[in-house]
Amino acid sequence: MGRPYLTEEHEIFRESLRKFLEKEAYPYYEEWEKKKEVPRSFWKKMGEQGFLCPQVDEKYGGFNADFGYAVVLNEELEKVGSGMVGIGLHNDITIPYIETYGTEEQKARWLPGAVSGDLISAIAMTEPGAGSDLQGVQTTAIDDGNHYILNGEKTFITNGYSADLVVVVCKTDPKAQPAYKGMSLIVVEAGTPGFKKGKKLQKLGQHANDTSELIFEDARVPKANLLGEEGRGFYYLMEKLQQERLMVAIQAQNAAERMLEITIDYVKQRRAFGKSISKFQNTQFKIAELATEMKIGRSFLDQLIVDHMNNKPIVTEVSMAKWWITDLAKKVASECLQLHGGYGYMEEYEIARRYRDITVTSIYAGSNEIMKQIIAKNLGL
Ligand SMILES: Cc1cc2nc3c(=O)[nH]c(=O)nc-3n(C[C@H](O)[C@H](O)[C@H](O)COP(=O)(O)OP(=O)(O)OC[C@H]3O[C@@H](n4cnc5c(N)ncnc54)[C@H](O)[C@@H]3O)c2cc1C
Repeated sequence: MGRPYLTEEHEIFRESLRKFLEKEAYPYYEEWEKKKEVPRSFWKKMGEQGFLCPQVDEKYGGFNADFGYAVVLNEELEKVGSGMVGIGLHNDITIPYIETYGTEEQKARWLPGAVSGDLISAIAMTEPGAGSDLQGVQTTAIDDGNHYILNGEKTFITNGYSADLVVVVCKTDPKAQPAYKGMSLIVVEAGTPGFKKGKKLQKLGQHANDTSELIFEDARVPKANLLGEEGRGFYYLMEKLQQERLMVAIQAQNAAERMLEITIDYVKQRRAFGKSISKFQNTQFKIAELATEMKIGRSFLDQLIVDHMNNKPIVTEVSMAKWWITDLAKKVASECLQLHGGYGYMEEYEIARRYRDITVTSIYAGSNEIMKQIIAKNLGL
């Protein structure tokens, strides 16, 4: 199967994005990895070129782009490096909550900034005591007239340090049974009294991407910042997590394709025992096997993208793609590093960075074990 969801317009968009990234991202990426941030000035440049949240409605500054543009954006950003993932999270994971569940007033307030790069967003689900078990969140938002008073702590939040607005998963009714019925989504803006950002976390990989703790100590948030209805937060998450998982599968597939590409180049030029290492049967068979599995991943993923664009339910299949493709990408990283020999372990070789970066894909957006749990449940087990 080709890629039926990509038209000539998407490819023209890709070409201009690529040219932009060659000038504005590739030359600086190593520096961003060292400084552990993608600078705000780059977000602004992305916004000026129409590369942030292109799916947003025209009346808020977007161009009503279809999901094919999100695919192109995430592919090209992943080629620069996995540390660019915070931009995809903003475009395709956080802002869609505001687009879908926000009121007119909320959309008019936040979407233009999200498109221009003036507002960087994050989503805060995970807490020190609640990751996979989302219903176990302890952050509370207690009714206080025109405000909610938020207390709690979040961790591992992508874009957390730079974020201007954070969609916070919290309990507006901590006593509700079952617990998910008491969960809500509240947008907390930087500068809100009682809202503090913790330290930037030191990660194994994806260094350019900022990941932070967030702390709420009697943070007073206007009730006007509630997204959708009180008590519906868990349902909203269950809906939007499907696209989040699809984005991770796209990320992992593209990272794997890049790793194979650089490894094929490497084995052709590296020599041992008087010949190119690409001529050893082991090298050929390893690469042939990986290329085959990646082709299977690619066609499954492409079908899933089409189904998602046609609004078909993809819960089971996206859970399958998320675990299978991220596990495959980790295997690709390991085999490709091995084929690089000692050079693969050296930081100046891209495979070393990609080997570190890929590990988290089987953990975030719902761990692969949780994906298998969902699949099993949907199979009636
Ligand atoms: C770099 C990075 C970025 C992230 N970005 C964000 C973000 O932007 N926003 C956000 O909210 N979160 C974010 N996360 C958090 C991420 O989603 C969680 O780490 C993930 O959901 C797992 O939760 P946990 O770390 O608490 O692990 P735990 O839930 O403690 O799981 C530990 C292990 O136990 C397994 N396990 C747990 N429950 C079960 C079960 N029922 N059956 C079988 N096995 C189980 C897990 O699969 C895992 O292997 C990020 C994490 C990282 C590392």
